[in-house]
Amino acid sequence: METIAYYNGKIGPLDEMMIPMNDRACYFADGVYDAMFTIDHIPLAIDDHLRRFYRSAKKIDIEIPMPFDELRAMVLDFCRRIDSPDAMAYVQVTRGVGMRAHAYSGAQSGPSLWVWVKPDVLDPMDREYSCITMDDTRYLHCDIKTINLLPAVIYTQRAEEAGCEETILHRNGRVTECAHSNVHILKDGALRTAPCDNLILPGITRAHRIAQCREMGIPVIEEAFTVEEMMEADEVFFTSASALCCRITKIDGKRVGGRDPQLLGRIMKAAWDEALSEVRALKA
Ligand code: PLP
Repeated sequence: METIAYYNGKIGPLDEMMIPMNDRACYFADGVYDAMFTIDHIPLAIDDHLRRFYRSAKKIDIEIPMPFDELRAMVLDFCRRIDSPDAMAYVQVTRGVGMRAHAYSGAQSGPSLWVWVKPDVLDPMDREYSCITMDDTRYLHCDIKTINLLPAVIYTQRAEEAGCEETILHRNGRVTECAHSNVHILKDGALRTAPCDNLILPGITRAHRIAQCREMGIPVIEEAFTVEEMMEADEVFFTSASALCCRITKIDGKRVGGRDPQLLGRIMKAAWDEALSEVRALKA
């Protein structure tokens, strides 16, 4: 099958699934999600992504109506069942179905669980990416993986209109993250990346690259950097579930990075090797 989806016990092709109009996702984007990418039918870092999913739900007072192991098994099963070996696996929970009312202490159906898998591919690591910068005008809970993605929609549209792939966000010149990824720089042999506070999503891929850099003896500095520092950095790259480690070579039309390709190449190779060994381990 091409796609497969689950909503509150119903399973079917993604484009045939029906959601009640009163699901609070429709009115309030009242929910959280997580997303993984597969190689050869295996979702990368599934445990980390699902753990964050349960943590995100807890932060907004939603209990996911399925135990961790059962959800993990369902995601693995869906990834195996669809035709495409390369896919995106998506999980979402909303506060449930009920008459429109902002507060949620009134009658609700209980949380709604959504799961789907569709064909998709990782962003290639052997190409160069261009970005624009924009003011980060989001709210102050960017650590929660909310389904309220209107700012990301607008930032990504602006990037596309500029012929770019991502938008790098900053608050008064302090770089936070991108519309849908984390951004990092290499400077003088060290990895520098914004700290995990309420201004960024604690990216799973970010955490993996940091752990690998530490293992390889590459110093890691979890301190925010400015747009100016980024433009002068030796290398700039972004990470996300779909972008294991992607080189940025143009920002706002100006060339950036390109001064430490060897170090960035080591980090990219480590990223790819880790993905392949994870696939081998889960296939075994
Ligand atoms: N930051 C934002 C705003 C994101 O939406 C994402 C991914 O969707 C990331 C960072 C990267 O997180 P991860 O590596 O867990 O995919």
